[in-house]
Amino acid sequence: MSPASANRAERLADRLAGAGEDGGPLDGYLVTELTNVEYLTGFTGTNGACLVTPERRLFLTDFRYAERAKEIDGWEVEIVSGQWLEGLAKHLTGQVGFEDDHVTVRTADQLREATDAKLLAAGGQVERLRRVKDAEEIERIAAAAEMTDRLYGLLGEHGLAGRTEAAVDAWLTGWMREQGAEPSFPPIVASGPNGASPHAEPGPREIGRGELVTVDMGVKLDGYCSDCTRTFATGSESELDSLSREIYDVTLRANEAGLAAVRAGADGSEVDSVSRELIREAGYGENFGHGLGHGVGLEIHEAPRLGPSSEDELIAGEVVTVEPGIYIPGETGVRIEDLVVVGERGVERNLSSFPKELSFV
Ligand code: ZN
Ligand code: ZN
Repeated sequence: MSPASANRAERLADRLAGAGEDGGPLDGYLVTELTNVEYLTGFTGTNGACLVTPERRLFLTDFRYAERAKEIDGWEVEIVSGQWLEGLAKHLTGQVGFEDDHVTVRTADQLREATDAKLLAAGGQVERLRRVKDAEEIERIAAAAEMTDRLYGLLGEHGLAGRTEAAVDAWLTGWMREQGAEPSFPPIVASGPNGASPHAEPGPREIGRGELVTVDMGVKLDGYCSDCTRTFATGSESELDSLSREIYDVTLRANEAGLAAVRAGADGSEVDSVSRELIREAGYGENFGHGLGHGVGLEIHEAPRLGPSSEDELIAGEVVTVEPGIYIPGETGVRIEDLVVVGERGVERNLSSFPKELSFV
């Protein structure tokens, strides 16, 4: 275990003091969500759990992972041989928090039957820790973002007009795999009128000239995700209609204004409203129907959220997206998304370096 990950279990143990009923202490915390288990221990199998108490760091898995579990240092390891839930339950004493945002009601009931410990719903503790990235995590996300930028460069050289969205999607995904990465989510390639749908799935439509094409993609590399959107234009400058040009320019300004509002201490809703207001003033308020951004790390969408109803206060060291868009139903759409590290006074580092001037490819 790297010193950084040892520190994660410490930080979780520190949180127990105030995570119980009415802000009281918990005697332990049971982590069963696998991404959270991975964050704490580095374990990437399909069955594992962690119990953290002020004194103990216990990792449990089953016989299939007995070999892999030996690589986890800093944790007592127990290989559960019989019933999994009973194996967990016998270690629980006192008031133990569990991840009620991930555990099914049925599993929680079964756990309660198997133990005398008092199980308390206390989800979100590890997610809260995961929000702030350490230097090693930021380097991994930066490497994933750099690979994505390289792919955008190749895509621009390759051209888009005359290919189908599905063919472009397959080519992007194939390239990622050749590099030893995988897509952090299925890429979006949305051309012409399909660009009006923020989550369009790439289809058989052949990309024409004089259209906008929104490409939203990222890779997962060494466990960490990247996320970036660029909107390209096809054909020559004179072939693009003025509406497409205008919404591109407004979206770019909204992206830049959002980036300028990112800083530790700002609320997710505050940053969102800076971008949103700019789009509204340009007359497209109705055409930006999603939140401005989200955290990125081991998962493509994690805390914090940047959006109209977000109460998350940004913290230095978080990695978040800023991704305003304008979507004109039946016609066209634009989204521009950067991935940035939150700093005390502003964006500490923009991990997305592919240019944002509209490029004609
Ligand atoms: Zn994205
Ligand atoms: Zn995103």
